[in-house]
Amino acid sequence: MGHPALRDAVSTPFWLDRTLPDPHPPLRGETTADLAVVGGGFSGLWTALLAKERDPGLDVVVLEGRRIGWAATGRNGGFCAASLTHGLANGVDRFPDEIETLEELGRANLDGIEATLRRHGIDCGFERTGELSVATEPWQVGGLLEGLETSRRMGRRVEFLDRDAIRAEVRAATYEAGVWDRDGTAMLDPARLAWGLAGACAALGVRFHEGTRVTGVHSTGSGLRLRTPHGTVTAARVALGTGAFRSPLRRVRPFIVPVYDYALMTEPLTEAQRASIGWADRQGIGDSANQFHYYRLTDDNRILWGGYDAVYYNGGGIRPAYDQRPSTSDKLAAHFFETFPQLDGVRFTHAWGGVVDTCSRFCAFFGTGYAGRLAYAAGFTGLGVGATRFGAQVMLDLLAGEPTPLTRLRMVRSRPVPFPPEPVRSGVIQLTRWSIARADRDEGRRNLWLRTLDRLGLGFDS
Ligand SMILES: Cc1cc2nc3c(=O)[nH]c(=O)nc-3n(C[C@H](O)[C@H](O)[C@H](O)COP(=O)(O)OP(=O)(O)OC[C@H]3O[C@@H](n4cnc5c(N)ncnc54)[C@H](O)[C@@H]3O)c2cc1C
Repeated sequence: MGHPALRDAVSTPFWLDRTLPDPHPPLRGETTADLAVVGGGFSGLWTALLAKERDPGLDVVVLEGRRIGWAATGRNGGFCAASLTHGLANGVDRFPDEIETLEELGRANLDGIEATLRRHGIDCGFERTGELSVATEPWQVGGLLEGLETSRRMGRRVEFLDRDAIRAEVRAATYEAGVWDRDGTAMLDPARLAWGLAGACAALGVRFHEGTRVTGVHSTGSGLRLRTPHGTVTAARVALGTGAFRSPLRRVRPFIVPVYDYALMTEPLTEAQRASIGWADRQGIGDSANQFHYYRLTDDNRILWGGYDAVYYNGGGIRPAYDQRPSTSDKLAAHFFETFPQLDGVRFTHAWGGVVDTCSRFCAFFGTGYAGRLAYAAGFTGLGVGATRFGAQVMLDLLAGEPTPLTRLRMVRSRPVPFPPEPVRSGVIQLTRWSIARADRDEGRRNLWLRTLDRLGLGFDS
């Protein structure tokens, strides 16, 4: 990495750069369960916990291919948003008749997360600071004002901050205006949340097997058999929370592409540096371009700074080598100092990437297989820290087999448009990325390609 502030940065994700909990043993031999959960990220962990909370007598096993929380779950920005639809604008576009309900469910979901942390004594640095959306170019202010109106109609507690007010709140060199959503987002430490959820599950009797990749699913008549390298699980019901990875259920695969997102973490700021940026209310911040940055403070006053590039590697592979992208890290570092020139001299200690399960509608989709004995939730795109808990509830409702208010939602019944097969897929995605970058340089004007995608309800985002 060429940027001098990145010279000492390590490639381990900041949140995972600690002593990890002792691993659970891999599955060896045959076992049975009422519910087998595949994936030890937020989707799988919430599914296991909520299943036990609904029915303490249920026998639940979680199978994780590597380590609990090692993937997107342990690498993200830790913005835990109420939105279930990857932001309000996306929700209004895609589910106009249902968005009020989805907003209410989202608020209840975030409240439910907060209550769960209290109930199980999970300390993950949860701070319900809300989120600031900031305009860094004059052309973005109109979009903020539009969003403000819609947010108010939906009952969000939002406040407009003009140029002076936003710069008084956070002393950034680039701000033109901002909107503060007071309580629709919390900041948290995602790895501590994952480990806390796993601990709560274990205390309720959930069994975990790490290093246990599910390589096949077969029907046994009354249940399903999951094959793993050294054992099998026969379960009455199966829930898939496998994120961006190749789904054990073939029909899910055309709907998801793995897109890489990258982040940096600074060293802890000194008191003087901390004072120089204001930011007393510690909100999560996102800027408003199509290629946006997200950033936040940690509990030891570092700044996590991520986003901007969302990278699809042609062919759709997921590889350890892709966790590092020096050109993106350099770009992120340069943007950081443009925003906070007063922090000149601050160094980054960590630079990492992770893979996001992107779908063409940017928010989760759901479904069943094997005559309703298996359910999946996938496609959270860049906003799954909170929404995965909702996804878990949907999966459990689907597996219960009776219609519920959640399974009746259009969001739950409908699917995104699938991606075309390779090599067309790579061509389409790269053209879209190029067009998005161009729109940001051209005051937000969308070219013919993006307008066509918009009309078709398709798109591409981090
Ligand atoms: C850099 C980055 C920043 C982000 N920032 C934010 C943010 O600030 N806020 C936000 O809301 N979202 C953010 N996200 C997205 C968020 O992290 C995800 O939406 C969320 O963690 C998804 O959780 P998951 O459990 O569905 O998937 P994952 O965390 O990817 O977990 C899936 C798990 O399934 C396991 N698995 C897969 N296949 C198998 C198999 N066959 N057998 C056994 N195990 C299997 C994997 O090993 C993995 O552990 C970010 C993501 C990244 C990468």
